[in-house]
Amino acid sequence: MNGSKDFYQILGVKENATEQEIKKAYRKLAREHHPDATAGDKKSEERFKEISEAYDTLSDSTKRREYDDERAFARPGGMGGPGGPGGFQFRDFGGGRGGTFRAQDLGNLGDIFDLFGGMGGGAAQGARPRRGADLGSQVNISFDDAMQGVSLPLVLSGRATCPTCGGSGAKPGTLPKTCPTCGGRGTVSQNQGPFAFSRPCPQCQGKGTVVEEPCPTCHGSGVVNRTRKVTVKIPPGVSDGETIRYPGKGEAGPPGGKQGDLLLTVNVQPHKFFKRRNADILLDLPLTYPEAVLGTQVQVPTLDGKVTLKIPPGTADGKKFRLKGRGARRLNKKGNGDMLVTAHIVVPPKASGKEKELLEKLRDLQKQDPRKIFED
Ligand SMILES: [Zn+2]
Ligand SMILES: [Zn+2]
Repeated sequence: MNGSKDFYQILGVKENATEQEIKKAYRKLAREHHPDATAGDKKSEERFKEISEAYDTLSDSTKRREYDDERAFARPGGMGGPGGPGGFQFRDFGGGRGGTFRAQDLGNLGDIFDLFGGMGGGAAQGARPRRGADLGSQVNISFDDAMQGVSLPLVLSGRATCPTCGGSGAKPGTLPKTCPTCGGRGTVSQNQGPFAFSRPCPQCQGKGTVVEEPCPTCHGSGVVNRTRKVTVKIPPGVSDGETIRYPGKGEAGPPGGKQGDLLLTVNVQPHKFFKRRNADILLDLPLTYPEAVLGTQVQVPTLDGKVTLKIPPGTADGKKFRLKGRGARRLNKKGNGDMLVTAHIVVPPKASGKEKELLEKLRDLQKQDPRKIFED
């Protein structure tokens, strides 16, 4: 019953636990049951293995997603679940028959929906409610919007929930009926040797209901091709080329299936003078030669307005000043990056008569020879 283990229960965390909560729970349990601490106690050793296995899956976002999907499929309509009658052997029907849909399935929608051709009945053995496909899209946003975050309306085209039946697949005015094969449970039992397995009902694909009079718009599939508007929130600090996943904003699934995810790639337009390196914002600060030699105070632009920066006397070209916390918002982490200001001494292409006169005086006055280093 390897596949039926409830990894969340093993770690004693909720299904929506954050990465941190999972890590914390794992560390605590691993300490308690570590073979070094339990002097070879068999039960603890088993438990330790179990804990490690659970953590191995739940700590890896890809594995965790796959595992969550399997769990969702194993208890259609939220019924049953681990510990329910019969138990579940979900890897038994999950492996090799499609699995779940991720980014690499983009553009491969036909195959998925072909499987659901005749939703009314006689579906292939082992079929189950599937997720809608993930949908890929792109947006271009300004540098400022990327820094501050922005809400954007998007028009997406693809498979969406049928507006006539609201996705149920049933003709308006009729309701899907309780499935006669599984009596609405969504699963049927199957005996295999000493084990009793539950698998999704072949007639209703796990929904527990069947459509007798299909919707005329979608012919019972619950989805139609159309454009729809969604609003997405771009978090502050997003970088150019980053892809953000919006769960449930992708294509509509067949009746009973979840909506896929939207994978939005954000293209950030370059800024006139700010550059970005991870969470740090880089700025080149032009200074005249006298300003660099004598020192000065300058106003420098930052993401949230101008700040005064003190340039000390004798500032060399290329010297860097760090403005703490004036960078981009760190994604997933708290706080902001810094702003790094690099002094850049500007040489005028042509000096005016008076300037020339003064510079010549200065040249004659200058005591240091910058090329002294070349002499031995
Ligand atoms: Zn419909
Ligand atoms: Zn059924």
